[in-house]
Amino acid sequence: MAEASPLEPCRDATMATFVQKFGGTSVGDPTRIARCAARVKARRDEGHHVVVVVSAMGHTTDELIELAERVTDKPSRRELDMLMATGEQVSVALVAMALERLGVPATSLTGGQAGITTDGAYGRARVTRVARERLDREIALGRVPVVCGFQGLSSDGELTTLGRGGSDTTAVALAAALHVAEHGGACEIFTDVDGVYTADPRLVPKATKLARISYEEMLELALLGAQVMHPRAVLFGERYGVPIHVRHSQRPDEGTLICRETPDMEDVMVVGAALKPDLGRVSLRRIPNNPGMQGMLFEAVAKAGILVDDIVQTEFGEMASISFTVDHSELADVKIAASQVLDRVGTGELAIEIGLSKVSVVGTGMKSHVGVASRMFKALGEAGIPIHNITTSEIKISCIVNKEHGARAIAIAHDAFGLDKLGAAQAAGTAG
Ligand code: ADP
Ligand code: ASP
Ligand code: MG
Repeated sequence: MAEASPLEPCRDATMATFVQKFGGTSVGDPTRIARCAARVKARRDEGHHVVVVVSAMGHTTDELIELAERVTDKPSRRELDMLMATGEQVSVALVAMALERLGVPATSLTGGQAGITTDGAYGRARVTRVARERLDREIALGRVPVVCGFQGLSSDGELTTLGRGGSDTTAVALAAALHVAEHGGACEIFTDVDGVYTADPRLVPKATKLARISYEEMLELALLGAQVMHPRAVLFGERYGVPIHVRHSQRPDEGTLICRETPDMEDVMVVGAALKPDLGRVSLRRIPNNPGMQGMLFEAVAKAGILVDDIVQTEFGEMASISFTVDHSELADVKIAASQVLDRVGTGELAIEIGLSKVSVVGTGMKSHVGVASRMFKALGEAGIPIHNITTSEIKISCIVNKEHGARAIAIAHDAFGLDKLGAAQAAGTAG
């Protein structure tokens, strides 16, 4: 596949298949694990096939990374993947045991055993193929496969991880390979919040739950900091038409459906706001504006495996300055890569600023409404918040602000677009 290859049709045309993914908090202790197992059993008792994907328990992945950092300050990416992947192996075994205790036959599987092949990029591998034979075999035997999220095997047999939060991607990739949509199934993402909100409810208490959101909007929000879904999971969902239902793992309520279109998507200007809290800005000043200069710089940055956020270039005659933002965690590597480029060019200065945040608003309706940007800038201006950089696309507006203003800026943007009323309006069919 580009990522999930077209695979054979489902086993039993009369039964729907649900992929149910449980996040770290949801499997954080034995009591929660038992509740998740009950949820799986309930779906099966309704007469559906179920495939389960689980994350590592609670903060296990963070703890494993800290452990590695106590052993060495620069753990190799390969060994880090080997270590991090153990977290999910603990939880699949426990969830399988909890299912067996309820009388549901279950088989725990690593990502590789479940058929997930990735490229070889440790720490941020991409799924390149999903072979569903093993899953089909387990299902045909009446068993529930319980699969480690976040991990796969590269084509040369190396264990890889998919990037933090990557269990969502495992779930949606399996759901795509199993064609869950064909028989009324879905990919259910069970988490510690009851759906996708107009902003992170921990940051903006007035945020409201959306009944539905388009893949395009969810992808943009995820890329801009809404951690509730892993961006690559949303991409898989969109590409293979997988209905994704984000729900609370410990409560029965309906959550948020991520789907192709929502009835009000053209009418509502903004559906959500997001915050990236810890950005740094890297500036290469007074460098020659030669053809190929930008290519050379960003090739070096890409080779170092650094994910670049927004890029801005300003020209002064034959010279240029280029700035780009990166996550704080990338700053050490980016400093090395950018310094090497300046050494090669033989001129220019490198400046790195830290302590920045990016606040963004997203909505497909922006395509057909004017005045969205001005409304956001005005609201931030009236609150006395300076904006250091602005980037826009057809469906988003982002402003870089000082980190100390980040939390207030997202609350202000949220208010400026009346997002505290959007959840109720969507539910009543009056959004827009
Ligand atoms: P899991 O461990 O289940 O994968 P995550 O911590 O990755 O859970 O994602 C759930 C968290 O995402 C929520 O607790 C919430 O604080 C955060 N979040 C960020 N943005 C949003 C949003 N727009 N809607 C809902 N939750 C959000
Ligand atoms: N356990 C991994 C993480 O903490 C993957 C996930 O939770 O989705 O990032
Ligand atoms: Mg997550």
